[in-house]
Amino acid sequence: MSETSKAIPLQAIRGMNDILPPDSARWVWLEDKLRALMARYGYDNVRTPIVEPTALFVRGLGAATDIVEKEMYSFEDTMNGDQLTLRPENTAGVVRAVAEHNLLYDGGKRLWYIGAMFRHERPQKGRYRQFHQFGAEALGYAGPDVDAELILMCRALWRELGLVEGRDVRLELNSLGQPDERCAHREALITHFEQHIDRLDDDARRRLHGNPLRILDSKNASMHPVLDSAPMLIDFLGADSLAHLQAVRDVLDAAGLEYRVNPRLVRGLDYYNLTTFEWTTDRLGAQGTVCGGGRYDTLIEQLGGKPAPAVGFALGIERLLLLLDEAAVTPPAAGPMVYAIVPGAAVLTRALLTVEALRSAGVSVLMHLGGHSMKTQFKRADASGARYALVFGEDEVARGEVALKFLRNEAEPQRTLALASVAEWARELLKA
Ligand code: ATP
Ligand code: MG
Repeated sequence: MSETSKAIPLQAIRGMNDILPPDSARWVWLEDKLRALMARYGYDNVRTPIVEPTALFVRGLGAATDIVEKEMYSFEDTMNGDQLTLRPENTAGVVRAVAEHNLLYDGGKRLWYIGAMFRHERPQKGRYRQFHQFGAEALGYAGPDVDAELILMCRALWRELGLVEGRDVRLELNSLGQPDERCAHREALITHFEQHIDRLDDDARRRLHGNPLRILDSKNASMHPVLDSAPMLIDFLGADSLAHLQAVRDVLDAAGLEYRVNPRLVRGLDYYNLTTFEWTTDRLGAQGTVCGGGRYDTLIEQLGGKPAPAVGFALGIERLLLLLDEAAVTPPAAGPMVYAIVPGAAVLTRALLTVEALRSAGVSVLMHLGGHSMKTQFKRADASGARYALVFGEDEVARGEVALKFLRNEAEPQRTLALASVAEWARELLKA
């Protein structure tokens, strides 16, 4: 490496963020909540590769979607010429894995994942090029019971996190029907848009004959009047599709969950049918969709697996954390229970071994490293958020003792503890 190239400071790629302490503690807190929630609903974790064959997304998501048209990080593997893509979402990857390993051989599977996704978008608040999704997929179930379960699971999460439905998050629901119903609607839609061709933007004109349904998803406000007067898919649904939607609604109604049926809700991907839903918020501006999902009964077959119905959703972790900020939800302050203060090198070994014993008994301990004055060590102890300082004074240690000082309550007297009985007072500390 030359001297000059060494001096150029390296930076993370635009739109891809480092998640650093103390903020990373909020991520861990949220991930713990998500894991516990999935355990309560009986969903199993799945982990698939971040890099997949480009064809998976082109075939799975549809060539005329925003993601495939302009947002994918695709590249050629210089070793063998394979066309590869950093996953822009994870449903296609999960479905590929389920088909590849024949996971549905003995019935349905309920799976969840969390991880980084990549889309080449214009970075802004709530929209990044590397972002993280938590998602759940229920494969092999035709619904509508499982559709409702997934939606209720989202509500359980909001409640668990302290978000208020109706204030912080709102549910929008729609049905995209079945392919033949969409076909009839598509014809009507094209006719409608052709009559208003002068009011469509370039994107919409380009999509008019390929994928007119996606025009309804446009964020271009000047087109909204044309979109609002467009024929609605819901009017083209047959009895079975309507019954499916009604069955989902019946559960939500019985559960007291408020929602809006939004006929314009078409979702950004081609693979959806029947139930689609989004949880939105008006606290995050243009990045108002926190969570989106729906049924995708044809995707498994489309990707080469045995036909099986499926439904799922994906939730943006960054947007959820931003929303928690806006809603003033703060995770409980994290910090070790004990901060170990080590005034001199003479007691170091004894201190380290005591602290090890405490940790193996389940007490979290942050050990002061690198010497420093008592004053500095107490300052660090205070800043760490620890409840107690454990002071390994040389005289005390020589007597086989250590001092325990309460950091959060001046009135509590300092205690002297016997080094020989660490396990006992560890139990006491954990109870306190
Ligand atoms: P949007 O309309 O905001 O672009 P989308 O329809 O593309 O969202 P999905 O593909 O449904 O989003 O992804 C599910 C969730 O993942 C979104 O609701 C959002 O919370 C999150 N998400 C999507 N794209 C991004 C991104 N670029 N940065 C951060 N979060 C994102
Ligand atoms: Mg998008």
